[in-house]
Amino acid sequence: MASAVAGPEIERLIQLLARLPGLGPRSARRAALFLIKKREAVMAPLTGALQTAMEKIVVCKTCGNIDTHEPCTVCTDPRRDQSILVVVADVADLWALERANAVNARYHVLGGTLSPLDGVGPQDLSIDALISRAHGEEVKELILALNATVDGQTTAHYITELLSDAGVKVTRLAHGVPVGGELDYLDEGTLSAAMKQRTLF
Ligand code: ZN
Repeated sequence: MASAVAGPEIERLIQLLARLPGLGPRSARRAALFLIKKREAVMAPLTGALQTAMEKIVVCKTCGNIDTHEPCTVCTDPRRDQSILVVVADVADLWALERANAVNARYHVLGGTLSPLDGVGPQDLSIDALISRAHGEEVKELILALNATVDGQTTAHYITELLSDAGVKVTRLAHGVPVGGELDYLDEGTLSAAMKQRTLF
């Protein structure tokens, strides 16, 4: 086993940084060294920002988004189309759609997807709340923006069944050729989904 090059406090910092997504032990070591070198310029404001985030971050009871107040910024934005609800599995998906400026609507975060193999059932997700939102508000369309995986599509079908009598239009994201994609490089599943979902030119 390699001997420690620094005291336990610094080793602990490295270990914690290594838990961040995208950082392995080597880059965690590099990040720790960078923070230590930039104590005033980076480490101090980062410490403050982490502390504030710890104290203030709440989960929106309406949609499941993360924010510093409740209801969240997205739910309270009056310029958003109130008739559309975009259903996502995770907050990361909500943020991705917002970054892409894909839709000007409100969201509902499920907190995962149904996965019988992993023991994730409807009671583990925010599905009841979604169904009552879809019934009780001025919602006319539900966009299922779920992963194009078996679990994502199982979840989409389950929700669609539950809402069959709700009088809302249920749509889902198109599956197909990515922007800038070359047909020759696509897998067979994507290619056949794109062919099935072809649109009028
Ligand atoms: Zn919200």
